[in-house]
Amino acid sequence: MYELIIIGAGPAGLTAALYAGRYRLKTLLLEKITPGGRILMSENIENYPGFPGGISTHELMGRMEKQIKDLDIEIRTEEVLDIDCKSKAVQTDAGAYTAEALIISAGAAPRKLGVPGEDRLTGRGVSYCATCDGPLYKDKDVLIVGGGDSVAEEALYLARFAKSVSIVHRRDKMRASAILQEKLALNKKINFILNSIVTEISGADKLESVTVKDVITLGLRKIDCKGIFIYVGQDPETAFLKGKLELDDSGFIITGEDMAASQKGVFACGDCRKKSFYQVITAAADGAVAAHSVNKYIAEKRT
Ligand code: NAP
Repeated sequence: MYELIIIGAGPAGLTAALYAGRYRLKTLLLEKITPGGRILMSENIENYPGFPGGISTHELMGRMEKQIKDLDIEIRTEEVLDIDCKSKAVQTDAGAYTAEALIISAGAAPRKLGVPGEDRLTGRGVSYCATCDGPLYKDKDVLIVGGGDSVAEEALYLARFAKSVSIVHRRDKMRASAILQEKLALNKKINFILNSIVTEISGADKLESVTVKDVITLGLRKIDCKGIFIYVGQDPETAFLKGKLELDDSGFIITGEDMAASQKGVFACGDCRKKSFYQVITAAADGAVAAHSVNKYIAEKRT
């Protein structure tokens, strides 16, 4: 029996663990892959306060993990399959645990384009992680799809290796922050294919070409390339919560400002909850608030 079980060890879960450990709550932190979360799919982070010039995401997340090492937090690499919000029971692929409160910081996964060829050629030219796969495309032509901060940051990273990086975006304007757009404009290897969507990804055994449709002229064109990186947003990892907690239409967990979800004693933080601004710093802040709320909830429950 734990006082708190935290599900997911990205920036939100690790920060929740940091605060919970300092409140001396008996805490179990469950993570299905490795601590750090989805931010590890990016190479560097430039807007985390306290690190002028930026910091490598592995370094930052490694530091967050190290900060909870001496706080008696139990960490297990297990995937959560089911939870019971009333009894606070958690079923994983390796065991069953109960607690007085739960924090869900399960994060989000890269969204797919859903076009023919995407699944078949994933790992064979189609990638969702420039940091992992970018160096494989040295002196090659690559496409990158999307218009947000992720595309901007990863296009700049890919340009270090690739011969050319073409950003395919469905509108005529990017939504990425102005400072990143300025950097994109200055990089001679980066060009834009705007008002365009990908309709097909082709290749026998590995990626050979991508078909792009101009949404204004409706014209189709086949672009030869060796890699395509997809950054079109994220979907919350909340399938195991369907019917158990209030979610929005896209599956994001609805919480109050105190991170309380729709069931008593269940809290949510980070990219899996519905909010207006998804950043590492806001995930960490959510984690601190969630742990604070749990501490208060447990204290009140006992009085
Ligand atoms: P995002 O901001 O949601 O942008 C997704 C992009 O993909 C948008 O430009 C969208 O187009 C496009 N898109 C969505 N569905 C599409 C489809 N089916 N086909 C083609 N294009 C599609 O996602 P993100 O860039 O991954 O960023 C997610 C969150 O993380 C954001 O809040 C971002 O600021 C944050 N982030 C933070 C950092 C950091 O703190 N350093 C780094 C990266 C990301 P429209 O523009 O037309 O909607």
